[in-house]
Amino acid sequence: MAPGPADLAVEPANLFDMNRADMAAFFVGLGEKPYRAEQILKWLYHHGCTDLDAMTNLSRALRQRLAEQAGMVLPEVALHESSRDGTHKWVLRLAGGDCIEMVFIPEPDRGTLCVSSQVGCALDCSFCSTARQGFNRNLTVSEIIGQVWLAHQALEGWDRDNRVITNVVMMGMGEPLTNFDAVTRAMDLMLDDLAFGLSRKRVTLSTAGVVPALDRLAARSPVSLAVSLHAPNDELRDELVPLNRKYPIAELLAACKRYSDHGPKTHVTFEYVMIDGVNDKPEHARQLVRLLQGMPCKVNLIPFNPFPGTDYRRSPSHVIDAFRDRLMKAGIITITRRTRGDDIDAACGQLVGKVSDRSRRHLRWPAVPAAEGLRVSIT
Ligand code: SAH
Repeated sequence: MAPGPADLAVEPANLFDMNRADMAAFFVGLGEKPYRAEQILKWLYHHGCTDLDAMTNLSRALRQRLAEQAGMVLPEVALHESSRDGTHKWVLRLAGGDCIEMVFIPEPDRGTLCVSSQVGCALDCSFCSTARQGFNRNLTVSEIIGQVWLAHQALEGWDRDNRVITNVVMMGMGEPLTNFDAVTRAMDLMLDDLAFGLSRKRVTLSTAGVVPALDRLAARSPVSLAVSLHAPNDELRDELVPLNRKYPIAELLAACKRYSDHGPKTHVTFEYVMIDGVNDKPEHARQLVRLLQGMPCKVNLIPFNPFPGTDYRRSPSHVIDAFRDRLMKAGIITITRRTRGDDIDAACGQLVGKVSDRSRRHLRWPAVPAAEGLRVSIT
């Protein structure tokens, strides 16, 4: 059958895919003044309004054009759970049917939203359950900033005096630096006063160490940086974080140094997952001290979070404490991350979503019984 006019129509532009500059260009393209972008951003991100009819500072004619030529499309909340410790987890369904997860972690002095940047992850770190899901695709700007939008909606309404989300960390599913363009545009909106208005210190990007992209990030959007180090020597890191074979530790640390010279005046945080008998021995602590000595940084020890099908175990608490003490004695600020939300599988490395794996990597791993995998069933 010949396609009808509707089949030929171009997809309307999604206003949630645009940062301020993109949106100004979009309005100029419509023959409108660029300041329309500012009006729309405020409606979307200050008032949480997606109803064109309510946007009364736009003319009726413009609203009509937007109704025809622009959409406001966000992921759909498939599930929202809260943990007994106050942690929230959402499963979000994307166009195409894949699901991602995001987590909110309240603490006395802050509220941190952990957002995903990809459907699955291509990096294949041996201790991460997202890796086992394989990789499907990058998230779009609207799918990334949409996570922050939906969490705002659920947690604080749009009352700007009741800010619950004070920090955003790009530490969910995916490697943010291999989705550079969408991630930096979405971060523009996290930082923009006309959108979420967070300071650079309160937006953190976590990377396994994509060295060339770190330099680009320093130039484009120098937010706080966390680096998943996890091992103090190349031999062990090659095994835990295979990306290390491409960008070994010395290159990564040199890039971190450049980042802190050019980036925000905050220390780089090195994340180090504590795996029993693998990377948690006194010799590893000593090597780590040698590696990081003299570098302005912090270390975050993350007790390994187990998931079905893994042979790794979490280091015992006394081992984690002894490791931390060795680093602290050498003058390295070290914090052990408290595991939050593990009763709802919301802890680090437990985010799995639902990924139609294009890498076919999941076939290498034993099948996980549905009841043990994604504990919540999404229909
Ligand atoms: N790809 C990015 C961001 C996602 S991972 C990165 O590698 O930094 C977010 C953090 O959770 C990383 O430090 C990651 O190494 C850690 N993590 C992954 N699996 C984990 C697990 N099973 N237990 C504890 N931490 C884990």
